[in-house]
Amino acid sequence: MNTSKRPTLGVALAPKLAAELASHLPDSHRLDNLPVGEAMAFMAAAAQGGLAFVAVSTWKTLDTESREKIAGHESWQLLLIADQADPQALEFMATGSFLTLMTCPLDGAKIARALHQAEEVSSMYQDIFMMAREISLERELLARKNEQLAFLNQVLTRASQTLDPAVILSNSAEDLDLLLDVRSVFGVFWNAAEGQTEAELFLPENLPQARQEDWVNHLLSVAGRLCRDAIRGYQVSFLTPREGIEGDAPELDQLVTIPLSVGPEPFGTLVICSREASALGQDRLRILTSAANHLALAMRNSLEFRKTKARADHDGLTRISNRHHFDMRLREELKRHQRHQDELSLMMIDLDYFKSVNDTYGHQAGDMVLKEVGRILQKTLRESDFPARYGGEEFVVILPQTREDQAWTLAERLRAVIGQTVFRVQRKRFRVTASIGIAGVQPGALAKPESLIFKADQALYLAKASGRNMVCCSAIEETSVAH
Ligand code: GH3
Ligand code: MG
Ligand code: MG
Repeated sequence: MNTSKRPTLGVALAPKLAAELASHLPDSHRLDNLPVGEAMAFMAAAAQGGLAFVAVSTWKTLDTESREKIAGHESWQLLLIADQADPQALEFMATGSFLTLMTCPLDGAKIARALHQAEEVSSMYQDIFMMAREISLERELLARKNEQLAFLNQVLTRASQTLDPAVILSNSAEDLDLLLDVRSVFGVFWNAAEGQTEAELFLPENLPQARQEDWVNHLLSVAGRLCRDAIRGYQVSFLTPREGIEGDAPELDQLVTIPLSVGPEPFGTLVICSREASALGQDRLRILTSAANHLALAMRNSLEFRKTKARADHDGLTRISNRHHFDMRLREELKRHQRHQDELSLMMIDLDYFKSVNDTYGHQAGDMVLKEVGRILQKTLRESDFPARYGGEEFVVILPQTREDQAWTLAERLRAVIGQTVFRVQRKRFRVTASIGIAGVQPGALAKPESLIFKADQALYLAKASGRNMVCCSAIEETSVAH
């Protein structure tokens, strides 16, 4: 319709005026003189804008609505032609709708000036428009960067607030949910202990039983891929449940797998289950990797802390808790006993004539016996019981919620198992026996740790004095002698 870059319209110009205007326009502009309605429709449709010439005589006849329709397009520039001497022309100019006013008769110079002015204003508008767009893009970018920083800050702060690996991972599920729609978070970490690489798997606590096996297999296969050594065994730890996990299966297109490393080798992997997994852009992946680096550091610290603590709490030879750990635990258990008003018993075990085991079979044989007794204690006792090596060939067991007579039955079983165990040293076979003393606290009774230990020790002394290989209780002083 028009050969010029920008359309040039006449809004219902009188034929004579239109011809006059057309004759002075440069070749790049071809005038399309349209009736008011058509001109309005054209302007509304042509988003790129253009020039529109309107005569004062026509403008006067238009109602407010039509004027607004014609003047309301930002991309269109309106030029007013005073085709008759009319004082209203200046009034129209004052409304700000028109770029310029040209008086008749028109000539080339007037038109060229008007077109030049239109060009200048148009390019100025374009510059302003571009600048505004750039500013708004910058602002958007800044806002996003700000959000990302706040997100990373939250991950970092929360991860360093605790030294419990399960809490760090549970919190990370909540924090990562700010970045992508996280349904659940899983974790697998591996650790070489005594030449064997063991894995620890972290699963949400509310994962349905039927799904657990799938996830265990998936996590072990991820660990198998990333860990240089073969994984020999694993244990499962549970994370705080997340709502709506609905027992998701490990669907590969819904998983984001992020290896965690502090040095060159990964020591574990975070597996995020999210419907957005396959639609993460570069931007979110980058920020996720940053978050994972923070988490890796926190996880590494917490796992190391746990290991160091376990080492400090356990006896190197028997691998059960040491005296220090026992002292702390007894204090805690006595407090709990007082809160819950239940029973508590303490067992003290001393191997009989152990010196002669060392003297006869050697110190190493003695060590082997101590290790085995540690194993027997762990195997025979309930999960809630707490065995520890008190020192030398003496062991203690805290038995929460256990009456003295129940403790006595348990002690008898232990005494029997220890006494029946046959040890072999260079073709020689031997057995050891144990004497056991028991002390209990009644519900509601106050007991100091030292006095409970003293009572158990007294009962043990009684067992020794009465011939060994026997269980004695401090309160009822009932004894059981081996047959
Ligand atoms: P009793 O029946 O009166 O308890 O006699 P006992 O020989 O067991 O008692 P005593 O307390 O005189 O000796 C305990 C021995 O336990 C002394 C020590 O050689 C031995 N012992 C202590 N700790 C260890 C250890 O870690 N390894 C080995 N092999 N022996 C130990
Ligand atoms: Mg002793
Ligand atoms: Mg002894």
